[in-house]
Amino acid sequence: MALEMRADCERCQASLPVDCAEALICSYECTFCQECSAAMKSVCPNCGGQLVPRPTRIKTNS
Ligand SMILES: [Zn+2]
Ligand SMILES: [Zn+2]
Repeated sequence: MALEMRADCERCQASLPVDCAEALICSYECTFCQECSAAMKSVCPNCGGQLVPRPTRIKTNS
């Protein structure tokens, strides 16, 4: 399954570049900005998972 990084917040569509350290993701790759994460108390509204800082470096095997 391909892991696709979202480039914007799912809630407010704020721009979150792949190397942006302010993005947070849940275990299902839902992506949110820091503001929305704080507003949602770091809980993903889609799956109920905890939002954690997104890694800025992605390992590629290509
Ligand atoms: Zn947002
Ligand atoms: Zn989620």
